[in-house]
Amino acid sequence: MSVLVRSGLGPLCAVARAAIPSIWRGKYFSSGNEPAENPVTPMLRHLMYKIKSTGPITVAEYMKEVLTNPAKGYYVYRDMLGEKGDFITSPEISQIFGELLGIWFISEWMATGKSTAFQVVELGPGRGTLVGDILRVFTQLGSVLKNCDISVHLVEVSQKLSEIQALTLTEEKVPLERNAGSPVYMKGVTKSGIPISWYRDLHDVPKGYSFYLAHEFFDVLPVHKFQKTPQGWREVFVDIDPQVSDKLRFVLAPSATPAEAFIQHDETRDHVEVCPDAGVIIEELSQRIALTGGAALVADYGHDGTKTDTFRGFCDHKLHDVLIAPGTADLTADVDFSYLRRMAQGKVASLGPIKQHTFLKNMGIDVRLKVLLDKSNEPSVRQQLLQGYDMLMNPKKMGERFNFFALLPHQRLQGGRYQRNARQSKPFASLVAGFSELAWQ
Ligand code: SAH
Repeated sequence: MSVLVRSGLGPLCAVARAAIPSIWRGKYFSSGNEPAENPVTPMLRHLMYKIKSTGPITVAEYMKEVLTNPAKGYYVYRDMLGEKGDFITSPEISQIFGELLGIWFISEWMATGKSTAFQVVELGPGRGTLVGDILRVFTQLGSVLKNCDISVHLVEVSQKLSEIQALTLTEEKVPLERNAGSPVYMKGVTKSGIPISWYRDLHDVPKGYSFYLAHEFFDVLPVHKFQKTPQGWREVFVDIDPQVSDKLRFVLAPSATPAEAFIQHDETRDHVEVCPDAGVIIEELSQRIALTGGAALVADYGHDGTKTDTFRGFCDHKLHDVLIAPGTADLTADVDFSYLRRMAQGKVASLGPIKQHTFLKNMGIDVRLKVLLDKSNEPSVRQQLLQGYDMLMNPKKMGERFNFFALLPHQRLQGGRYQRNARQSKPFASLVAGFSELAWQ
């Protein structure tokens, strides 16, 4: 690891990024201006019709419809990321973020025996910026990866964002193959000549030695919400408000509902959010990693089974009432990392969650920043690099809100077949980059 960081990343350039808005997706940083009116959006009309015909819907169903309904979903037809969108994410803020993640994958590839091929699989790739930065690191470290067959696999439900990803990542001269009816709905070649494919579902990605990445992906998966009552847990549903026309409201289910099975028996909180879809994805990732090796890196805001009501909306970089003008704002809930850990248990080892500033510090962000600053004479570029660093690392900004969590094969931490140095006395976990401080030699 230290060798990779210190040898630099080839032609060292600062890549232009959007100006950083002062507010980003995070419940506690915004005044949360609510829109004065309640416009009747096509999604609101659709939901009112649905509720009138079949009754109130769970918050999970509401989230799923609002975000990913194939005809009207928030994610399906718009670009919501960046300065002009509704929220900004770490890869959109600084190139250093993706570069360090690229180094993390190479580090794991090296630590596990330098396989002759691997897949990079990203869940919810947004504008493709993160995987673009990772691939640039792979190109710059071409001498290290020269005999390795790499392919990229993107799991994306958004038609609009998949088009933006293709523009960001692929070689214009090689036309994309499209087949809307196939599980692999688009195929092409990246600017650096790597095969790239798009899927709507992780299950359709070929199994094989892979590095999985999910940045700000788990927080958009639908959650069920439960309130503790004297009668026991009752699920929160979304219903039509009988007092105000064209308005939705939360109600409690009159009796127990099936998703209650996801609440821990010894739960002490009085309000919880559970995300069965996250469990399904973690199980799939765990099975794949246990079977074929590789690793998964999850980065998101979240908690370790301690928070209660975190469901919120974002529009134009401000908090937004989740029930107002559905389809025009992002909906999100903090990730419960304790649940992810439980779902991986027994199949693979997990590390974290650790805070973003600790992970990036351990990955050598200070060295990388210094190298980029030393190489740029342009004051505006230097200022952008420093502002980006502050945004990612400042504990009051993204530094403490975001967490890193990894899934690894058990052997990786137990010093099984991957152990390279039999005299190594430390536990192998200490050698997983990012999760422990790098030893600078
Ligand atoms: N990772 C990016 C984007 C985060 S926004 C970044 O950090 O900048 C969430 C992303 O997940 C978007 O690309 C959205 O279209 C995608 N997405 C949302 N729900 C999804 C689902 N169920 N399956 C696959 N992708 C999904």
